Amino acid sequence: MIPAPLFDNEPERIGALNRYEVADAPPEIALDDIALLASRICQTPMAAISFVDQNRQWFKSQIGLPMSGTPRDIAFCGHAILQSELLVIPDARADGRFQDNPLVIGEPHIRFYAGAPLITPDGMALGSVCVMDTAARSLSAEQAEGLQALARQVTTLLELRRTQRQLAHAALHDALTGLPNRMLLTNRIEHCLARAKSRKGYLFAVLFLDLDRFKVINDSMDHSAGDKLLQKVAERLSGCVRSGDTIGRSGHTVAVARLGGDEFTVLLEDLRAGQNAADVAQRLLTELAKPMDIDGQEIVATASIGVVIGGAQAESATQLLRDADAAMYRAKGAGGNRYVMFDPAMHLAATERMQIENDLRNAVARGQLVLHYQPIVCMKTRKLLGFEALLRWNRDGKIFRPSQFIPVAEETGLIVPIGRWIITQACQQLAEWHKAVSSAPPLFMSINLSRRQFVDRELIPHLSQTLKETALEAKDLQLELTESIISNDAPAARMVLTRLKKLGVQLAVDDFGTGYSSLSCLHSFPLDVLKIDRAFVTSQRACSDTVAVLKAIVDLAHNLKMRVVAEGVETAEQAALLETVECNEGQGYFFAKPLNAQAATALLWGNTVLGEAA
Ligand code: C2E
Ligand code: CA
Ligand code: CA
Repeated sequence: MIPAPLFDNEPERIGALNRYEVADAPPEIALDDIALLASRICQTPMAAISFVDQNRQWFKSQIGLPMSGTPRDIAFCGHAILQSELLVIPDARADGRFQDNPLVIGEPHIRFYAGAPLITPDGMALGSVCVMDTAARSLSAEQAEGLQALARQVTTLLELRRTQRQLAHAALHDALTGLPNRMLLTNRIEHCLARAKSRKGYLFAVLFLDLDRFKVINDSMDHSAGDKLLQKVAERLSGCVRSGDTIGRSGHTVAVARLGGDEFTVLLEDLRAGQNAADVAQRLLTELAKPMDIDGQEIVATASIGVVIGGAQAESATQLLRDADAAMYRAKGAGGNRYVMFDPAMHLAATERMQIENDLRNAVARGQLVLHYQPIVCMKTRKLLGFEALLRWNRDGKIFRPSQFIPVAEETGLIVPIGRWIITQACQQLAEWHKAVSSAPPLFMSINLSRRQFVDRELIPHLSQTLKETALEAKDLQLELTESIISNDAPAARMVLTRLKKLGVQLAVDDFGTGYSSLSCLHSFPLDVLKIDRAFVTSQRACSDTVAVLKAIVDLAHNLKMRVVAEGVETAEQAALLETVECNEGQGYFFAKPLNAQAATALLWGNTVLGEAA
């Protein structure tokens, strides 16, 4: 037994042993050699390296001792580790501290003991290198020196091993979260692949998870908050797959890994059926969607997950990760906070996407981007009030609609430089029109802002610079934002909106009626215009119910001092209906399609009334 007072006095010196992973390690030649050297140098029949932690003591390498690793000399070693130098007991039988020691009374009848403590660089005691004899004796100065040198050797060796292990761990793990990294993940997937090839019916799944809006959160809080969020996410994911009884019951081994940034993966081994992977994906989403507290701020971190099932037909880890990634993009494209199972048709989409990304990088420089302008008219007079600028990409003669490339531009961040170009271009065009045609009130220009642009620090400086250069009044510029941009990160959004308002531009909520937020939750923001989504306008039939809803929205907006614009007006019937509910402005094919600059200019000169007998 460990003499209790011995360790109670110095608890902080003991207990570092677990850092070194010697406890259950197999015997080591290097340590055995050191024990052998100790017995040769000190010319004793017995030598050992012993280790101590709070609960036990044992011999790791031993020479001439009859027992195999059983902790028996705790009293000797326990005293040795309290020394900073060598402990020498010339005759244990004559020493009150050891007279009753079983190793003294019985086999191997130790009388002489000398132990050099193993002290780590930070002063922790790990054990000792000791020599023993059945006869009382002493050590020469050279022998004592040799024994201490050997003890230092052992400590150095252990430190070295530990550093090597740490390096090996660091190479395979992510420093921020401690999770396995891409390399280790790839390795594990390859294991699964090998098993799938050799075991019939073996299935596994790779879940590729990317946080929604992480960039926004990260940019709007300080960087350490972003790190904390990632750590929390890592914890949640690990906790979720570990404690999950759905997973536990079917006996999967799972591994959460971080690939970098806000990308995580979950590997599910030994799946019973594809449905299991979907269940896990759903659980992860549910778990993540619970609010987290980061520095006193409540944050909801939803994610998009792509799921791919691997089996004997799967090619490689890289391939599986790419497929899961492609499925994840689908989930993101569908609005996030969901999972999508990979299907091979997505392959093409992924390569096409890459191609788009590459071409898009050069599109501005090559002058391939153009703006079209769709008239916005007064519902009552049908007079032209302004234009919405809509982006087009002339990619080698083929015209691309925004839906085909804006998502890529947003994901890659290319939307920021492109967005700047749009603002400059649209403002220059409006200034030109102002010079050419005078109208009262002056024509306005409405520009779409994407989420990324909205959080771009350069947005406001660039806007005011452009207004100055084009000599436009800020009020003639209108910016369109979707509800989700505003409501997803309300405090940050409020700040930007307030600054924009101060600049003097008009602010519009785009696509209203498609999102989840209600007008009542938008009312506290400084907004001027409500644009009712096309889908909402199209679904309005002259039935009293839906008209009532439309009327209620318009009235509420008016109460909040907002103008209402109806989008996607395609028929005279829709236009008439919108007029009866007192919707202020309209936009849609019924009035005019988006026009190129030349056609829009012609329209201005023509001074046409739009939507009449079209
Ligand atoms: P949005 O802001 O809702 O723009 C209105 C979309 O409806 C335009 O599609 C327009 O061509 C279309 N549209 C207008 N009237 C009608 C109609 O009567 N019937 C039908 N069926 N469609 C009509 P477009 O140009 O393809 O733009 C799609 C979306 O791409 C836009 O939706 C907007 O969210 C985004 N977008 C367009 N230009 C830009 C831009 O410069 N910057 C950013 N960030 N996004 C843009
Ligand atoms: Ca718009
Ligand atoms: Ca819209």
